[in-house]
Amino acid sequence: MEPGPHISRLRLMGYGTSRGNALGALITDNTLEGAAPLIDPFGRAITYLRVSVTDRCDFRCVYCMAEDMTFLPKQDLLTLEELDRLCTAFVERGVRKLRITGGEPLVRRNIISLFEALGRHLESGALEELTLTTNGSQLGRFAVALKAAGVRRVNVSLDTLDPQKFRAITRWGDFDKVMAGIRAAQRAGLAVKLNAVALKGVNEDEIPEMLRFAHGEGMDLTLIETMPLGDIDGDRTDQYLPLSLVRARLAEDFTLTDIPYKTGGPARYVEVAETGGRLGFITPLTHNFCESCNRVRLTCTGTLFMCLGQEDAADLRTPLRASEGNERLSRAIDEAISRKPKGHDFVIDRRTKTPAVSRHMSVTGG
Ligand code: SAM
Repeated sequence: MEPGPHISRLRLMGYGTSRGNALGALITDNTLEGAAPLIDPFGRAITYLRVSVTDRCDFRCVYCMAEDMTFLPKQDLLTLEELDRLCTAFVERGVRKLRITGGEPLVRRNIISLFEALGRHLESGALEELTLTTNGSQLGRFAVALKAAGVRRVNVSLDTLDPQKFRAITRWGDFDKVMAGIRAAQRAGLAVKLNAVALKGVNEDEIPEMLRFAHGEGMDLTLIETMPLGDIDGDRTDQYLPLSLVRARLAEDFTLTDIPYKTGGPARYVEVAETGGRLGFITPLTHNFCESCNRVRLTCTGTLFMCLGQEDAADLRTPLRASEGNERLSRAIDEAISRKPKGHDFVIDRRTKTPAVSRHMSVTGG
C-alpha cells in the first residue's frame, strides 16, 4: 500500500444513497485531499471524461467498424469497480462531466450498476452530468434504470429514418427496436439528442427530413463529419460529406441562426426558425475545434487518450492496480495531461489512404 496524503477506506457499495446497486462488491473510495484541477500545457482545463466501457457493439456501422472485427478478450477489460475508481479519480481532479460510451455501452454486462455507483457524484455535487452515447438498441430495457441512476440526457446515434438503409448502414441493426428505445427513453423522462454521421450518397438527401422528425419529437439533432479512424472495409473518401456543404444546402430551406448553446462537447449549434429546434454541427474536418478541447478519453482497458485524433496514450491500469490508494494514479493522470497535444490533424482525401489513427472509434468511444 502506498503512503500518501489520501484517505483510503473500503466500504460496501451503496454509498449511503437510497438507491440500491448491483455491483455488490468492495470498492475503494480514495479521496485525494486538495487535489489540483487538471490543466493541460495549453491552459485548457480538463473537465470532461469520456469512458469507453467495452469495445464490443451489437451493430457494425460501415463507417465505424469492419464487418469482421476482433474484439478484446474479456479478461483484458477493467472491472466495473475499477472503472468506477478511475472515473472517481478524475472527478476528484475536477472532471464535471462523464460520458459513458463504447462500443455499445449498454451491451456490457451489469453496466447499470456502474451508472448507479457513479450517480453518487451527482448527489454530492462533484459531478454536473452523467450521460451516455448509445445506439439505442437496449434503451427499451434500460431507460428507466438510467434515469433512476441520475442520467438526464442521452445521445442516440441514428443515421437514417429508413429501416432498410438503417440495416445497410449498421449491417445488423433493427430500426424498430431503436425507435422503441428512443420512445422508452422519452417516456422515462430522458432528454434525447440524435447524432447522425453525414454520409455522402447515403443519408445526405434525408437530412432535412431527419431535422423535421427530431425537432417534431422534441429532440435536438447533431450532425457529425466522418473521421478517419481505423480501417474499415471501404474507402472513406466515398463517405465523407463536409458539413459546410450540408449547412449551405439546409440554409436554402431553413433559417439557421448561430446560438451560443453549449453542452460541454464540440458541437456548435444553430436554431432552426421553421422548427423551433436546435441543430448541432461537429466538424473535425472542416472546422477544427481543438482550441476549446476540454476532454480526454479512457478505454475499457484503462488507456487514456489525450486526443481522439492522435496515437499518444497513457496507461492508467498499471498505477490503478499498483496500489489501493490513488496517489500514483493521480500522478499518472497529471503526467498524461501534461502531454495533451494541441489538436488533431485529420485529413480525408484520395491521396491519404491510411487512417489518421489506426484504432476504431469503438475503442476510444464517440
Ligand atoms: N455504440 C454507441 C453509439 O452508437 O452511439 C457509442 C459508440 S459510437 C462509436 C459513438 C458515435 O461515434 C456514433 O454516433 C457513431 O456514429 C460515431 N462514429 C463512429 N465512427 C465514426 C467515424 N469514423 N467518424 C465519425 N463518427 C463516427
